[in-house]
Amino acid sequence: MVKDFDFPSAAYLGGKWHKTPKTFAVKSPYSGEKIADVADCGETEAKAAADAAVEAFKAWKAKTGHERGKILRKWFDLLVAHQEELGQLTALEMGKPITEAKGEVLYAASFVEWCSEESSRINGELIQSRFPNKRQMAVYEPVGPVYAVTPWNFPTSMITRKAAPALAAGCTIILKPAEQTPLCALYLAKLWEEAGGPAGTLQVLPALDPVPVSRALMEDMRIRKITFTGSTPVGKLLYRQAADTLKRISLELGGHAPLLIFEDADIEAAVKFTLLCKYRNAGQTCVSANRLYVHKKLEADFADALANAVEGLRMGDPLDPATQIGPLVEQQGLDKVVAHVEDALSQGARVKTGGKALGGLMYAPTVLTGVKPGMRILEEETFGPVAPLIPFESEEEAIRWANDTDYGLAAYLWTKDLARAFRVAEALEYGIVGVNDPVPSAMGANLPFGGYKNSGIGREGGRWGLEEYLETKLISIGLY
Ligand code: NAD
Repeated sequence: MVKDFDFPSAAYLGGKWHKTPKTFAVKSPYSGEKIADVADCGETEAKAAADAAVEAFKAWKAKTGHERGKILRKWFDLLVAHQEELGQLTALEMGKPITEAKGEVLYAASFVEWCSEESSRINGELIQSRFPNKRQMAVYEPVGPVYAVTPWNFPTSMITRKAAPALAAGCTIILKPAEQTPLCALYLAKLWEEAGGPAGTLQVLPALDPVPVSRALMEDMRIRKITFTGSTPVGKLLYRQAADTLKRISLELGGHAPLLIFEDADIEAAVKFTLLCKYRNAGQTCVSANRLYVHKKLEADFADALANAVEGLRMGDPLDPATQIGPLVEQQGLDKVVAHVEDALSQGARVKTGGKALGGLMYAPTVLTGVKPGMRILEEETFGPVAPLIPFESEEEAIRWANDTDYGLAAYLWTKDLARAFRVAEALEYGIVGVNDPVPSAMGANLPFGGYKNSGIGREGGRWGLEEYLETKLISIGLY
């Protein structure tokens, strides 16, 4: 594997690069080649990291927000300066096309920038007392050492969306990155070290098996918060585990986004819109449009135009700047896409374009028509480049179908009618709604991101994301 820059493969523990007796291989999903052997952490490393996070918390919490902000600002500058390297690592270990990967690095950096500024503005509140001889105030304090678990599909931004507000608030953070993508996480730690981040404030523990590290940290009373992005079943497991030590919890889980295309939509624009919110990251995005409800007057024309546009998408090596669709991240993901399409076809759906695996982990961008309720593709997150089209007849029917799921992360609609835009956006039971906007959270460090129902608890981004890392304390002073 050709690389022209160095990246770490040891764990980052207590401010040191820590080699473990065991390692595991990280492979390119495109070529199957090994990229690196990475430290494989377990319970021992988790306990050592917890000790270091608790120790570092004392001094980090005592710094002013302004001081913490200055280190975060340096981290931001380094992230931007190393956009190319981080982009390449993302394309290598995750398979996302390099152009998208470099865009993700800037998105990741934007959380660090926003939090570097906001850490100076974590102000409490003087409350007007009901007693003349008392002065009462609400002050914010960091919740304490945090444990973070992140997925592979956005290997830099899912980390900074947690680490930046945690560190700005004065928390220390131990990260267990996804086993598929530990290299981006370790590179972020290297840049944190270069930025002057004190030992133990940010630690990264890669692990092939997440359970030993996770169990040790979840059982540790000194770890006061768990923040997780990933699948709903693992999120629920961590939610249950958090009960024993009553940790604060933030969960960013799976999605099953509907996209509603109303009869007044401009087909050309709606197709462009769909390419972005369906095929980006080969559909491996929690906010990917998974179900495309198209008004029946438009369905045939829309299906033709979408299939035509999808056939023009360029598949290939993620490191090639011309590539628009790379491989799926792993065999299990590809198997799920294949199974969803086979199930739909066996129940009467038709392939408009694509519909086949192309060797390796590549799957052809696909449009399916004739999709009906009861098919797996309408019930589960597919996490692949497949767009199932379902015709609808009325606004009421479209809303009912869109909400007929336990998920509630993102939803989209396309209309020129302002009254309908508001009516439908308000009726959708989702944490994020894009109206004529396929990427509502683009560069959204200042925006709330999170889901309803089985899509999660809490919000990341903006002041909402920062508050997740803050405790509120009442101080009441009697004037005697
Ligand atoms: P996953 O849940 O399998 O893995 C996510 C992380 O959890 C990984 O780090 C993994 O090692 C860890 N993990 C797995 N089992 C664990 C266990 N028993 N204990 C502790 N940790 C464990 O999810 P994935 O396949 O990596 O990611 C895809 C999922 O993430 C999709 O469902 C997607 O929608 C979701 N996601 C959500 C958001 C969001 O913001 N809501 C963003 C990106 C991805």
